[in-house]
Amino acid sequence: MARQFFVGGNFKANGTKQSVKSIVENLNSEELPKDVEVVICPPALYLGLTVDLNKQPTVEVGAQNVFDKACGAFTGENIAEQVVDLGAKWTLTGHSERRTIIKESDDFIAEKTKYALDKGLKVILCIGETLDERKSGITLEVCARQLDAVSKIIKDWSKIVVAYEPVWAIGTGLAATPEDAEETHKQIREHLAKTIGEDQAEKIQILYGGSVNGKNAPEFKDKKNIDGFLVGGASLKPEFVSIIKSRL
Ligand code: PEP
Repeated sequence: MARQFFVGGNFKANGTKQSVKSIVENLNSEELPKDVEVVICPPALYLGLTVDLNKQPTVEVGAQNVFDKACGAFTGENIAEQVVDLGAKWTLTGHSERRTIIKESDDFIAEKTKYALDKGLKVILCIGETLDERKSGITLEVCARQLDAVSKIIKDWSKIVVAYEPVWAIGTGLAATPEDAEETHKQIREHLAKTIGEDQAEKIQILYGGSVNGKNAPEFKDKKNIDGFLVGGASLKPEFVSIIKSRL
């Protein structure tokens, strides 16, 4: 079945009001393909600004992280209801920088994913192995463990997009080869077929993330199980548009 091509941009903790404004205005000025879903995730401080500036009908805005509880005494957290209030439609959960630097557990990420969905956000759920885990041959085991924490508490995956992002490929310039990425995506989909059912597994978009840029994006074009990209560094540059157009 045909799954819609999807490109996410994760600005991480980068930018200023001015630089975020120029990224969004650059996107606004482009003729983007109508059949590509685009989600940009600026720092939380610029979410409202990004929503207000965005004029592209195929571009939606997302947070990079949300908490697993409602408004209250949680200093510094992003609250899903407030993300919705700002007009954003998405959030990332489980980005490897949060798993490894902030030490978020699989179960906490699953709870955050559930809370975000319950409050009406769509979720890009990030998974992926570290270099040591890859070298030990446990890539699929790690991805399966991260996915299972979510499938244990969430049955409806229709508002979830999975981003497979090998940690060793993020921000390093060392993208996985299209063949390696396709093989892991295929295994992830097979695993999902067993846990959430074949129908949902067939429909779910699985993005590849890790050093994707304007030059290498077209190399992933013919890979059956790669439904798009989650892009970090290159989403801050004009080449993000080439990635969005890489399937034309
Ligand atoms: C990311 O942060 O999700 C990412 C994939 O980063 P980069 O594209 O810079 O490797």
